[in-house]
Amino acid sequence: MSARGPAKQGAGALGGEAMHRLITELYPICRSITGNGLRQTLRHLQAHIPLIIHEVPSGTRVFDWTVPKEWNITDAYVKDARGHRVIDFGKSSLHVVGYSAPVHVRMTLAELRQRLHTLPDRPDWIPYRTSYYEETWGFCLSHADLLRLPDGEYEVRIDSSLRDGYLSYGECYLAGESEDEILISCHVCHPSLCNDNLSGIALATFLAKHVGPARRRYSYRFLFVPGTIGSLTWLSRNEDRLDRIKHGLVLANVGDAGPVTYKRSRRGDAEIDRAVVNILRLSGDAHEVQDFVPWGYDERQYCSPGFDLPVGCFSRTPHGRFPEYHTSADDPDFVKPQALADSFAKCRAVLQVIEQNRTFLNQNPKGEPQLGKRGLYRKTGGSDDGRLPELAMLWVLNLSDGAHSLLDISDRSGIAFEVIDRAAQALQAHGLLKERAQ
Ligand code: ZN
Repeated sequence: MSARGPAKQGAGALGGEAMHRLITELYPICRSITGNGLRQTLRHLQAHIPLIIHEVPSGTRVFDWTVPKEWNITDAYVKDARGHRVIDFGKSSLHVVGYSAPVHVRMTLAELRQRLHTLPDRPDWIPYRTSYYEETWGFCLSHADLLRLPDGEYEVRIDSSLRDGYLSYGECYLAGESEDEILISCHVCHPSLCNDNLSGIALATFLAKHVGPARRRYSYRFLFVPGTIGSLTWLSRNEDRLDRIKHGLVLANVGDAGPVTYKRSRRGDAEIDRAVVNILRLSGDAHEVQDFVPWGYDERQYCSPGFDLPVGCFSRTPHGRFPEYHTSADDPDFVKPQALADSFAKCRAVLQVIEQNRTFLNQNPKGEPQLGKRGLYRKTGGSDDGRLPELAMLWVLNLSDGAHSLLDISDRSGIAFEVIDRAAQALQAHGLLKERAQ
């Protein structure tokens, strides 16, 4: 995009700080797969990007699933015999098992223990637990706090409701020159957890902010959906137009200090897979590329066999591979502005590849064209200065036989895509290349 439009906004370290600020603002909200916390989160994003909030009624069938009842919660606590809150939802939204049914009872510590979840191996962390599809209730707390609870009677209260309502999801569509689309999706259903999932929300938002003012070939669709049920709901409501999605990325865990991990789409060699691998490989940074597996985030739904969309998953440390995962230690300190900025820069570079990837035909294929007389070759031989742009031109001329795209040429030459792209633009401007008709 930057070669064709403005759009430098949101880049660099400043972008990392701004994304981190957004994460910190959204952190306290108790999100779930439905309810006001989710809605509040989506409304907050409307201050950044033109996001439409869709509301889908409880009970709506989406393929083999049903949109559940809407869950809302205002307060929850466990009080000891003296009336002190020993567990207080007001202090952390993680304290209540997500989707807990309302309850107000008195019970002994032994009875209460059956409803408490802790992490004995990480005694200072609160675990994150949910029970979406089986009605129950419970609390989560640090194991250290559990050990401090004296015997006696406790008052237990969860002021929640599970009623027919709506599932909310956010959609930001940015039209480009073509109706062909790039899908960027993230999940928005986790409460006070930062890498999983606020980092994905922040990155998707800032990518949308970046794409917004740029002139672009593709249309972009950014989805902010509750995990699984949200992507299924979106797919079921848009089934007749999924053929427009030419490339896609699911974003999750993009803010920790680890290297980037990319999980390929089910197709394995889709253009998005090749673009991400190209950017990671030529970045020189440590990274890992994984083949598709049918678990993880919403790529599971986009890549189910009935859709098989070209959608991969971009992460840093994948879910389950950092101890802070799904615990209170996945807090604002765990996500780093620098890592967010790096994730942003790499995703932006990937989108740039997708935007600019084209296949050309060399208009002077018999021998090399004389670049010097066109001002495209350095005048003094022998020095290595400025050699890379020239090598890029030679690669582009040699491989532009109609069968190799600029991405192919970057892969084969090991020269960064943007250098190859600039070479192609220079050659095209001198009439030496013509774009192959699609
Ligand atoms: Zn998660």
